[in-house]
Amino acid sequence: MIWKGARAERALRRVRDRPELPLTTFDPSEVVEQMRIERVPEVTAPVPCFIGDISPLACILYDDQGSGTVLIHSLLNDPQTPLAVMKLIATHELLHLVARPEIIEGKSISHPPAFRELERERCPEKLEAWTWIWEELGWYLSIDRDSESTYVRRGWREIPRRVQA
Ligand SMILES: [Zn+2]
Repeated sequence: MIWKGARAERALRRVRDRPELPLTTFDPSEVVEQMRIERVPEVTAPVPCFIGDISPLACILYDDQGSGTVLIHSLLNDPQTPLAVMKLIATHELLHLVARPEIIEGKSISHPPAFRELERERCPEKLEAWTWIWEELGWYLSIDRDSESTYVRRGWREIPRRVQA
């Protein structure tokens, strides 16, 4: 999702000043860079990526000059998070720099048909990744259909992680 506004800017500064070290089996920043080069070459400069306790599950912030920053929620900062999930998120967020929001029937749509088309073409793991997200993290999440966004519930740290069989 595209995150904008004063709250997003504050979160960006907070997370950028004190980023979490990755506990994942991969480095999210490296996955973002790899996906940029392999899947979203329209984005010509590296896009920084930080992990922190934000409100969306993942998002990109960008300015009018087009330079963006990807933020990943701390909930995903876990050794169990599959690489496929990070690849999907990285590609999805980078594609926001390519397929910008469109006004459709008077409403700004951040995932217009052109965006979904690119996502279908370039994210072969989309179904696998979302299946894992819903099965493993579903009870931490809330969807805002109006803004087409996935948020992590407040108090998520208090919700116990499902024990792996
Ligand atoms: Zn999005």
